Amino acid sequence: MNIYTKDLVVLSKIDKELDSYTPQIEAINSKIEAVQKKLNELNAKRDSLNELIDSNRAKINAFELQIKELKDKLEEIKKKQKIVKTEKEISSLSTEEHIAKDSLSYNNEEIERLNGIIESKEAELADIQEQIEATQKELEEVQKSVEDEYKAIEESKRSLYQKRDEQVRSMDPKILSFYEEIRKWAGNTAVVKVENQACYGCYMKINDKAYSDLIKGEEIVTCPHCGRVLYIEVDGETTEA
Ligand SMILES: [Zn+2]
Repeated sequence: MNIYTKDLVVLSKIDKELDSYTPQIEAINSKIEAVQKKLNELNAKRDSLNELIDSNRAKINAFELQIKELKDKLEEIKKKQKIVKTEKEISSLSTEEHIAKDSLSYNNEEIERLNGIIESKEAELADIQEQIEATQKELEEVQKSVEDEYKAIEESKRSLYQKRDEQVRSMDPKILSFYEEIRKWAGNTAVVKVENQACYGCYMKINDKAYSDLIKGEEIVTCPHCGRVLYIEVDGETTEA
């Protein structure tokens, strides 16, 4: 095999190996993302429960303020009732007293109703808080469990990039850009082996001329159908850089 094809085979194998880590990294990331998503949803639930409780507390405060005013008014009515004389005045005060008392009981009922809501929302909140703590723990565990795996991948990738740099530096820039052009559309199958006179990129049989050129191994041969760089695998020849 000529040196150019040999270089391309080595480089394409490094690139293929580098890309082989992508699904592993994606699997790790999606594991973390799934737990993170669960945690975000729980946090959002907690926030909306807190908002609901706060708004109900504000309503209760407003009702309590009204109750205080109503009580003052009832005190005032009592004082007036002691001094009024006419039938009309007595009747009007009695109506006022009646309305104030109605309002008072309405406000008390509302406070009771809102407190009931708060109580049930607080129970929900406590449950959510527990789930948040468990999920945070789960997230930490997942992060810890993938840490070693992630480090190992990063380490392998780093050494592969180093190997790639060395390989690229030793190569003819024209050959390199030729390879990169094919890689744009062929990805990791830019350089493929030929077996049984068939291209392992497009799986079509190559003509006799291309095949005999390939066997001669004097120059780079591309597939007449798809344009990928072809090589014939010989044990020991292509695996060493
Ligand atoms: Zn082909």
